[in-house]
Amino acid sequence: MRTHPFLGAGPSQLPDPVLTRIQSSIEEYESSGRSILEIGHREPLFQNMFDEAESGLLQLLKRDPGDHRVLFFPGGGRYQFHLIPLNYLRAGTSATYILTDYWSRQAAQVAGYFGQIKTKSFHPHDQDPGGPEIGLEGQLDGQSYVHITSNGTVSGFQFKDFPECSTIPLIADMSSDLLTRLLPESSPNVMYAGTQKNLGSTGLSVVIAQRDQLLLAQKTVPPIWNYATLCDAHLPLATPPIFNIYITLEMIRWTIAEGGVEEMERRSIVKSSLIYDEINSNPDLFINSIPVHYRSRQNVVWRMRDPAEEQRFILKAKEQGITGIKGHISGGGLRVSLYNGVSITDASVIARFMARYAQDRS
Ligand code: PMP
Repeated sequence: MRTHPFLGAGPSQLPDPVLTRIQSSIEEYESSGRSILEIGHREPLFQNMFDEAESGLLQLLKRDPGDHRVLFFPGGGRYQFHLIPLNYLRAGTSATYILTDYWSRQAAQVAGYFGQIKTKSFHPHDQDPGGPEIGLEGQLDGQSYVHITSNGTVSGFQFKDFPECSTIPLIADMSSDLLTRLLPESSPNVMYAGTQKNLGSTGLSVVIAQRDQLLLAQKTVPPIWNYATLCDAHLPLATPPIFNIYITLEMIRWTIAEGGVEEMERRSIVKSSLIYDEINSNPDLFINSIPVHYRSRQNVVWRMRDPAEEQRFILKAKEQGITGIKGHISGGGLRVSLYNGVSITDASVIARFMARYAQDRS
């Protein structure tokens, strides 16, 4: 089992008990005499797995299973960059994309292939730490939806509150913070996420929404991509990535057993504080320019005062067995990702390393 933390931005490390269960299911799945890799999607074994993954996820998100659905798709978060506008961007309307970092820009760029979009850049300052004052008032007429990236995996910027959009659906890319934070009762209206950060492994995405919201999908969308058709189908329309769905189910089971989203949020606060405390205590060495209220609890992103020293820091960390901390290719710097599979102990390993590094240098 794992001896050193992997703190990459996705795929994330998986908890040891999850890996153990997966290993055993590769040997034999649920006393079926077959491996999980040999189970078909028309079998009750799969139907049970699928139903449990859906109900477990809704339980964790505190969404009513009576009127909410979870859709599973092959392909990650970027896949939904396409399906959201395909399903919801109506002719004669536009959609507003709130731009905060790399992934929100990518989502907006893709939506532009499907119709008219408006963008709104959001740059908060330390002086206004309240809810997101994005200034959407009076600008939502003729809009199909508002899109937000709840956590900027690249920039380390996270919305702690969601913007108010009146009657316009708020759609959130929660690829890097789904299941790490408690949510308001009925917002965002549509959530989606690639599963490789807090929900399992690569190659799968989930869409979660109220049934009525899913049924608003445009009728012209072919069935296999159509949220409304899939909402009522109750089973995938093509052979799904069964193994990936199974891994997600094991992550859901583990999250429930560990105490649910409340506990994941508590751990996220503890883990991220350990790293931010080191950054704050060593201002001569480390810089993080994100206003405190918006600092991500999933991706702590920072620079060294002397950027030339970043490579040395990464190499020294590697000598200690700490990997995955290089910033995104678009911006460089350093990034520690603290997804649910990363424990408080893992986070304290890198925090102690940062403290020692600072001490040795002074
Ligand atoms: N949205 C966010 C917030 C992400 O962090 C990522 C990937 N890191 C994506 C979308 C793209 O997802 P994928 O790589 O699964 O297509």
